[in-house]
Amino acid sequence: MGSGHARVDDIYGTWSGPIKQLCLTFGGAPVQSFTKRNIMSAILENKVCLVTGAGRGIGRAIAIALAQAGGHVAINYNRSEAEANAVKTFIEGAGGKATLYQGNVSDSFNIRGVVEKISGDLGPIAVLINNAGITRDKSFLKMTKEQWDEVIDVNLSSTFDVTQAALPGMLDAGWGRIVNISSIVGLKGNFGQTNYSASKGGLISFTKSLAIETARKGVTVNAVAPGFIETDMTRDIPQKVIDYVNSLTPAGRMGTAEEVASAVAFLASPAASYITGQVISVNGGLYM
Ligand code: NAP
Repeated sequence: MGSGHARVDDIYGTWSGPIKQLCLTFGGAPVQSFTKRNIMSAILENKVCLVTGAGRGIGRAIAIALAQAGGHVAINYNRSEAEANAVKTFIEGAGGKATLYQGNVSDSFNIRGVVEKISGDLGPIAVLINNAGITRDKSFLKMTKEQWDEVIDVNLSSTFDVTQAALPGMLDAGWGRIVNISSIVGLKGNFGQTNYSASKGGLISFTKSLAIETARKGVTVNAVAPGFIETDMTRDIPQKVIDYVNSLTPAGRMGTAEEVASAVAFLASPAASYITGQVISVNGGLYM
């Protein structure tokens, strides 16, 4: 998994999918471009939206989709400063709102401080997307404790810290949306990924339990479980493995980050008010 390089055409390439989907989903007038006017009438109405790991991949697509829906997006990144800046520039250039926040989600003290700073700067967080994630694959007996801890810390324990810091503002407001990015691997397991599947399965159980705690307080908590999505995370998978997975996938192809972002944007919207504790798979039918 490398840090990747944001290219302007990559970002512009994400353009039509989420907004088109949102218009269809919420019955709004179809729009061809992302303008200030669209934003003013948009469904998230300047709500503060935090996306962890939003400089690249799925997080980037989610940040853009939430900005298109009118949210003021707090773009968290750890290492990919240039890529995160490109996402901010794109959103602002299109009339949306975005602010950058560097922070390592696996550093409990640091990331709690970042969440508090976001709330202080922009107002209480209304939409939280726990997206940051890593892989450190090894078959179980070869896996080191360090590889286990690193994946659990970034993918699962970070969700404890970020959510605990953001939730009080949602409860005070009586409205909130939390979407945890799990994985197909959290549902069915995968060779060489005991650490990753434990973290992603843990996120699903976390989602269900927190959903029960917050349902009467206007805060929904859901998980999205992507299948194989074209990002830096899957870039190094050998082509013959990709071909094999595609042959098993009813849709016959890998998914895009924008296809995941569409599901997340829907769950983050007021339209999803009676959906909580659910896991929405975005996997082309690979696992049902
Ligand atoms: P990616 O392209 O490798 O991006 C990973 C993101 O996580 C980057 O933005 C990275 O930020 C961030 N991140 C990693 N460690 C971090 C840390 N300590 N603190 C803050 N941010 C950190 O992967 P992706 O495919 O977009 O994955 C996004 C999420 O989707 C992950 O949770 C992943 O497990 C999940 N997912 C992906 C797939 C897939 O096929 N791609 C499938 C199922 C689930 P920096 O670059 O700034 O460090």
